[in-house]
Amino acid sequence: MTTIQSETFTVHRAEGTSNVSAILPPTGHFINGSFVPATVSGNLIDVVNPATEEIITSVQAGTAADVDAAVAAAVEAQKTWGATTPKERADVLNLIANIIEDNRAAFEVIESANTGKPRAVAEDDVTSTIDTFRFMAGASRTLTSMAGGDYATDHTSVILREPVGVVGVITPWNYPLLMAAWKIAPILAAGNSIVMKPSEQTPLSTLKLVELLAGRIPDGILNVVTGQGRTVGQRLSEHPDIALVALTGSVVSGQAVAKTAARSVKRVHLELGGKAPVVVFPDADLQAAAAGVRNAGYWNAGQDCGAACRVLVHESVAEEFTQYLAEEVGSLVVGAPDAGEAVEMGPMISRPHFERVKEALAEARSAGLTIAVGGSALEGTGFFIEPTVITGVPAGAPIATHEIFGPVVTVETFSTTEEAVRRANESPYGLSASVWTRDSSLSLRVPKQLDFGTVWVNAHLVLANEVPWGGFKGSGYGRDLSLYALDDYSRTKHVMINHGA
Ligand code: NAD
Repeated sequence: MTTIQSETFTVHRAEGTSNVSAILPPTGHFINGSFVPATVSGNLIDVVNPATEEIITSVQAGTAADVDAAVAAAVEAQKTWGATTPKERADVLNLIANIIEDNRAAFEVIESANTGKPRAVAEDDVTSTIDTFRFMAGASRTLTSMAGGDYATDHTSVILREPVGVVGVITPWNYPLLMAAWKIAPILAAGNSIVMKPSEQTPLSTLKLVELLAGRIPDGILNVVTGQGRTVGQRLSEHPDIALVALTGSVVSGQAVAKTAARSVKRVHLELGGKAPVVVFPDADLQAAAAGVRNAGYWNAGQDCGAACRVLVHESVAEEFTQYLAEEVGSLVVGAPDAGEAVEMGPMISRPHFERVKEALAEARSAGLTIAVGGSALEGTGFFIEPTVITGVPAGAPIATHEIFGPVVTVETFSTTEEAVRRANESPYGLSASVWTRDSSLSLRVPKQLDFGTVWVNAHLVLANEVPWGGFKGSGYGRDLSLYALDDYSRTKHVMINHGA
């Protein structure tokens, strides 16, 4: 097998500085349609560009009092918003889509500066964000409930679908704008209002969004409080006037939210971590599978809950597949977002995360695993890690079962289909998986046996707004995207009318 030397990778760096400062949003909390100062001033969180390590700006570290003010606005606004027709709500969602589209360049620049992601990834995020709002605008107008009917003599039943009320939303740093859209669009479409906390590391695209929406959508239906999970997120999870809290983030944060929410018997919607297996059968198109992992394992620098990060390949084709994979991964171009269109992979989001990924690589080395490609941090400014492939990984190795959330793909082998399914399912996560085969029987049988919320066949990380996204087991519960998200953010009410004598 070819070992590609780590010298292959260099960081492409931008000449000059990014043009983000001219388009930065205000940095207060956004409550009832305008930016307001924090209740406690002077508590600030620095927002860092992970490609340059420069501080872009600072945002408010919100408090419980800030959340309470936002919830009060959301409660008031929801009374009117919840009574609007699907068409009126769809008009607002289409307006949001149009505003994002008209300002897409600003969103791409802000998202790239705040996350370090290549411009192509930011462009894809913005395109998907616009489509999420457009899809939910249309979908909300088609939503129906079970038909009414006569189920008791002289009684007619009607099933109503209602908003749940005020929804608390907590988003992560990997796709700040897109993850916000996945929540905002269905939650507003279903007639709820929102108090949202973006990740303290990446609040800028969310603040830009509300800056552009101010005065153009009803005041108070979308409020944003910036700050830490342990304060702002905690208050959202416990607030008595919040009916449901939706979080996309790590398992630990999901557990904290669910535990707190239990005290007020709040509904919880959790999109948590993942460790997606990629099961490659001997009859698969091995080159296509390797190209698929190149894209889906290293997209957003592997900082993706659905990343194709754990290959299980049949032992008879392992060497050939790994050769293709090494060639594919060895050709990835690493760099800062402003360093040109060729850049495919950016840095880790922060220094602590960079250190965690380095630690996982050091553990792999000390466990005697083979680093076929990459395996190290890249020199210089920014939190860059080489695209990495680790082979010879034994069953149950921690590196193959725990989320690394970086550009690291591990390769294990299997000998029977039964073993491949069992090993793939031996994971605390259940978000997504892929199966690579040309056998029509395997392409249906194996996905049915895999315990994951999404299973792709001969593809990985292909998403569409029409189909649900969400996990099983440790990856949480609740569904983003599709009509299922609208279901999650509404409630049904049975009205039974006695029309007997
Ligand atoms: P994180 O859990 O550290 O943070 C996510 C959000 O939760 C942040 O806004 C954070 O401030 C908040 N938070 C943290 N502790 C909290 C608490 N005790 N109470 C309330 N809120 C709290 O996650 P992250 O590092 O920002 O994102 C990476 C994680 O997100 C990964 O595990 C990834 O797999 C997961 N993720 C999942 C999906 C999905 O669709 N399933 C999508 C994207 C990311």
